[in-house]
Amino acid sequence: MIVTAHQKRTIYILWLLIVPIIFYIALNFFPAASYDYVDMVIYLSILIATLMTSIALDNVSITLERWVIFSIFFQYGIVAEMIFMQIAIFVLLYTLKSPTPKGFRLGFNSINFAVVSVLSGSIFYAIGGSLQEMSLGSFLLSGFLYASAYSLINCTIIYIYLRWLKAETSRIIKIAWWDYVSTILLLPFAITFCLLMQQFGSKAFLLIGVPFIIVLLVSSNYMKSNKLNEVLSSSTVIGHQLAERLRVEDVFLTFIDKIKDVITYDSAYIVDLRMGENLVMLAHKEGEFCNGEANRFSFPQKKSEGDGLDVESTKLFLNKKSISSLVGYTFDPAVESVMTAPIKRNQKTEAFLILTSNQRYAFEEMQVKIVDLLTGYFATAVEKARYYERTVEKSVRCGLTGLYNFRYLESKLDEEVIRYHTGEISTMSAIILDIDHFKSVNDTYGHQSGNDLLCTFAALLRSYQTSEMTLARYGGEEFVMILPNYEKDEAVDLAETIRKEVEESNFRIIPDLSEDREPTIVNMTVSVGVATMPMDAKDGKELLRNADRALYIGGKQAGRNRVGVYEEEKENVVS
Ligand code: GH3
Ligand code: MG
Ligand code: MG
Repeated sequence: MIVTAHQKRTIYILWLLIVPIIFYIALNFFPAASYDYVDMVIYLSILIATLMTSIALDNVSITLERWVIFSIFFQYGIVAEMIFMQIAIFVLLYTLKSPTPKGFRLGFNSINFAVVSVLSGSIFYAIGGSLQEMSLGSFLLSGFLYASAYSLINCTIIYIYLRWLKAETSRIIKIAWWDYVSTILLLPFAITFCLLMQQFGSKAFLLIGVPFIIVLLVSSNYMKSNKLNEVLSSSTVIGHQLAERLRVEDVFLTFIDKIKDVITYDSAYIVDLRMGENLVMLAHKEGEFCNGEANRFSFPQKKSEGDGLDVESTKLFLNKKSISSLVGYTFDPAVESVMTAPIKRNQKTEAFLILTSNQRYAFEEMQVKIVDLLTGYFATAVEKARYYERTVEKSVRCGLTGLYNFRYLESKLDEEVIRYHTGEISTMSAIILDIDHFKSVNDTYGHQSGNDLLCTFAALLRSYQTSEMTLARYGGEEFVMILPNYEKDEAVDLAETIRKEVEESNFRIIPDLSEDREPTIVNMTVSVGVATMPMDAKDGKELLRNADRALYIGGKQAGRNRVGVYEEEKENVVS
């Protein structure tokens, strides 16, 4: 919760105005019994033990200290109760996590409980409650009204406080309900305990205090293991979801997104460790998922040994001071907790997951095991997705030249035609190139040399590649360029430039058939065909067919080493 300087000042001033006066009133106007200091020390230890073990019900964190506080009140009066409650507030400051600054919390809670103590105490005495022995009936009645007032006044003040801070109040009814239920359920403990104290003195601690602490410890451990079970099953679900993702990027996105189901974080980063030393950002989430550079986290280009980023195991950095031991890694100033986890494949660290939170002590030891489990799932899922992507990539490439194959060309052409029809592009040209008399190259120098020449030719074409253009091997020694947004004359210019470059180039091959295998220079030419959408074709197939026609008639038939341009009326024109 963000608290302004003005709000802080207000709380401190209110504290000075209210708390000393309430103590003064409690000291002078309310009855007090004589204190048994040994008993009080035992009370204090039970109180602190109770405060250390909070349990969560319905996502509301509850501490069961109230019966100890009530016992103190029933036995020693309001001043002792107030002092114990103020101690409890101090302990809870450290055992209950909250993003609100500690001084502010302390100030507010101190005022809250001073007011709660004095008001509910007044109600207790007003309806005839006393520190002396009472009949069980009147003890139960005044105790019940006292406890009810205690809980209700507490929740009302919390509600006013949340409204004042303009904080979320939607959970207040649920919190108030559990506060009331736990208070009323604990009341019989306090009453029974006081009655036993009157009867048996300090032995009552053995009868109620010790069993209470044991039950509390057992149930708190039970809740912890229940929570662990829940988190473990969520993690398994995340594992399945990761395994279903086929794209590496989807795996990153799912991982970063879903990890939030089990660990609350503010920003998450996946940093690759290349060749054991180079650090590269793979993906992150600082609000939105992103593949590029992060804004709120920077790190050295090379990982060094003593930089604090552990390659072996997951580490927690739970306050600013310990975060500063990550040398060279800079986080947003708001970050108060960091978790770093190595992502391993075959026992080797290949990347890191880095989670940050703007709360101190935001991560727990239990989460370390969960993160280790999840990074394991993640590493496997990434490997599988990479393999899948490589397989897909291979299936659309020609094994010899590395250019796209006909299968890819066909589907890409369909996509481009859709882009044309939706108005995303305004024209589309196709260039088909066919090497002249290529058969004779094979016949003269051998098939292997022919292959080498095809590869060299593919490389020459690749040098003209742009991000928009699709370059593919159409068949044997025929290649295609699909050019979105190219007017016909631009495509013809490009075709002519390539034709010329091929004509002027010396291609070096090692003859496959001759004995000496001395490198030889070969010259060759290409014939080219050009057609353009929309004037020459309605769809992708027709575009290729007409470019092929232009190649055949305007290129080959016209004498080879030429660019043929498709034109509807004249059928073909030789460039
Ligand atoms: P044109 O000028 O009419 O195009 O004559 P061409 O010899 O180039 O045409 P043709 O279609 O008669 O022959 C194409 C040759 O290309 C046939 C085949 O030997 C060769 N070829 C096709 N694919 C490959 C390949 O992958 N490697 C090698 N080395 N040769 C191939
Ligand atoms: Mg051919
Ligand atoms: Mg040919």
